[in-house]
Amino acid sequence: MPSERVDLASLSYEALTEFVTQTLGEKPFRAKQLFRWIHQRGASSFEEMTDLSKPLRAQLNERAELVVVTKDLEQRSIDGTIKYRFKTHDGKLIESVYMPSPERRTLCVSTQVGCAMGCRFCATATLGLMRNLTPAEIVGQVHAVNREVRALEKTTGPQALRPLTNLVFMGMGEPLHNFENLKTSLALLQHEDGPNFSSRHITVSTVGLVPMIERFGAETNVKLAISLNASNDEVRDRIMPVNKKWKIADLMEACRKFPLKQGRRITFEYVLMAGVNDTDDDAARLAVLLRDVPAKVNLIQYNENPGLGYHSTVNDRAERFRHALDLAGVAAFIRANRGRDIAAACGQLANSENDRTFVPLKPLKPANADP
Ligand code: SF4
Repeated sequence: MPSERVDLASLSYEALTEFVTQTLGEKPFRAKQLFRWIHQRGASSFEEMTDLSKPLRAQLNERAELVVVTKDLEQRSIDGTIKYRFKTHDGKLIESVYMPSPERRTLCVSTQVGCAMGCRFCATATLGLMRNLTPAEIVGQVHAVNREVRALEKTTGPQALRPLTNLVFMGMGEPLHNFENLKTSLALLQHEDGPNFSSRHITVSTVGLVPMIERFGAETNVKLAISLNASNDEVRDRIMPVNKKWKIADLMEACRKFPLKQGRRITFEYVLMAGVNDTDDDAARLAVLLRDVPAKVNLIQYNENPGLGYHSTVNDRAERFRHALDLAGVAAFIRANRGRDIAAACGQLANSENDRTFVPLKPLKPANADP
């Protein structure tokens, strides 16, 4: 439902402070209280904000709104992974995947409803792009899952409010195709009065929107992952249309220039598909591509999506591929596939109920970024 009211959860701390002091005429500390309610406690209504006066809450109800995502469905995998489906205020469906392990609690976050990138092996691509998610909807997934995990595990101690420890932006959508909203979300998620995530614990993955990689490096401080999936242009052109615009050489050049913080590496994701990109020659070419980039490679055995026609590489071949990279001096790991049984694994997020006929009113084009 369109609204003239200000979407408070999408505002940066500075913009929220301006709204509270300039528009509402309140003291700056009220902005801090409000920010904490929204981004630390994950409040979903002004009524919950019991330390704000009733007249202020009434004013907030009149002039502002709290846009939240609402849990619509939850599916639990035998490996502990939980796929949450959320509904936006306009009825769109998005998915977030919670992956607990003994060391960390990670959430895979979506940034768009559907995706425009058209990767041939990916279920999300079949939806097309419906619209960008707002900062409120991006951070709203984190707040909602923090609430769920709190209830699930009855978490106590200092982490009680915010049990999630790590975020990966690898859900539905291409994060750098929604750059401004991503950037605002990253600042909200790292704010000390909000969820307070460390930059070391947030990774953003891109298919390689080359000009946006430069902006991402200059304007944010979190970790970069590249969804590479091929060792030459011929194959990448075929499976990832973005490669027709920016070739692998352009992408590697952007990676070489990326301002890495000390001790960090760029993660290269490589989904292994039988007979497509998993030969010994592919491994050798990949090692050459990465020889002058601080890199680690995550090898992911493809999760088959009905109708897309690609198949998973078998275990022996995956191990041989990893070993070849290892011998060539490239750190490579075969990543466990989480949530395979509930279609929560990499490239499998696609809500069948999303209306594919919805067309965005304006083309979504960050400067120079469209493939
Ligand atoms: S793999 Fe990622 S970028 Fe490619 S279509 Fe799927 S969601 Fe979009």
